[in-house]
Amino acid sequence: MTGFAYAAAVVPLLCCSGAVRAAAAIEVSTEFEGGKIGKVERVSETHLRCAVPGEVDQDKRNRQPSWFYFRLEGLGGGELTIDLTDLKGEYNYRPHDGAGLRNMRPVYSYDDRTWHHFETAEWNAAASEIRVRLRPAGPRVWIARQPPYTQRHLQALLAGAGWHPHLRQDVVGESVERRPLLLLTITNPAIADGGKKVIWLMARQHAWESGTSWVAEGAVRFLLSNAPAAAAIRDRFLWKVFPLPDPDGVFRGGVRFNANGYDLNRNWDVTDERLMPEIYHERKAIYDWVDRGGRIDLFLTMHNTEAADFIQGPAELAPLATRFWKLLVDGSAFHQPKAPRSAPSAAGAGRGRLDTPGALFRDRKIPAFLMEQMVDTSPRLSRPPTVEDRLEFGAALVKAICAAVEEP
Ligand SMILES: [Zn+2]
Repeated sequence: MTGFAYAAAVVPLLCCSGAVRAAAAIEVSTEFEGGKIGKVERVSETHLRCAVPGEVDQDKRNRQPSWFYFRLEGLGGGELTIDLTDLKGEYNYRPHDGAGLRNMRPVYSYDDRTWHHFETAEWNAAASEIRVRLRPAGPRVWIARQPPYTQRHLQALLAGAGWHPHLRQDVVGESVERRPLLLLTITNPAIADGGKKVIWLMARQHAWESGTSWVAEGAVRFLLSNAPAAAAIRDRFLWKVFPLPDPDGVFRGGVRFNANGYDLNRNWDVTDERLMPEIYHERKAIYDWVDRGGRIDLFLTMHNTEAADFIQGPAELAPLATRFWKLLVDGSAFHQPKAPRSAPSAAGAGRGRLDTPGALFRDRKIPAFLMEQMVDTSPRLSRPPTVEDRLEFGAALVKAICAAVEEP
């Protein structure tokens, strides 16, 4: 979220009485959780050019223009044209021309709850821009990169599930801006934990990757459901879930860095309590668990990317990765035709570049993986994933992980 609110210039209009009045100009706002857009230029009454602001890291590098979420008000009945501009950037210290975003299909909503993908999004390669059009069905519309998920969604989930005797909520620390870092524990407490397999799930280390929050919500909803399979899982497994590991980024409509500019899925080798308290506290919760004798059968951090689904982990974990991958591909729309990739060796990562699975495996031999899911058109779905797809995938993910760690 930014402090930015833009009201386009009012245009004088002759009304039926003959008096001059101000036409209702389109107003652009980001004054809400997760809201973000850059400079807005008005080309005409119905055509806006909206710069995607992106975000840079602690060295002012790696600008990734991956998130926007804004509201337009005062819409008339005519067709609206929105150009999303300024899509060039830098990823892992390599400049890119924005072409990785060419298949982007942003979403719109008339109530900030139900999201629809734009029918078409035209990629202008020469300008590195995306154009979307809409004939709005009402006076206001929200537009976003993918369906947003903020604290209000998480609080609604927990308000509905907080009573559940198999759910425990702990705060493991605070973010830079002093927001709580929540850790959920889901298991049947009437059965001793000693014989249970233990799974850790982390969503949304990168704020723009809201699809991972919907998957986490789907997983939690399934785990706490009345389905017999879910009850059996709660008897045999203990699940730990970090639902929102970068609450500051989610609040301000960030991309992939914490409030001090640190990438929360890097820097696990240079963790600093003051600069990146999110990593410090989350890592401590995991290592404390292991150091007190707790087992971890599988750890997964979930991410979004433009155009690929894949699981990645240390080469030594290939058998478990392959079981997990096969089960996931069979049980969901996960699109990874080939066996999981081995992550680059943690030993070869430059200073500040060690990611979460690399650190967990290097430091405590935790079977830790990263999973990417595409936000644009999935070959298996033949469309970009919707909120319903993400929720459904969350349940399939729980089943695949449980089966993967239970197999010999
Ligand atoms: Zn990510």
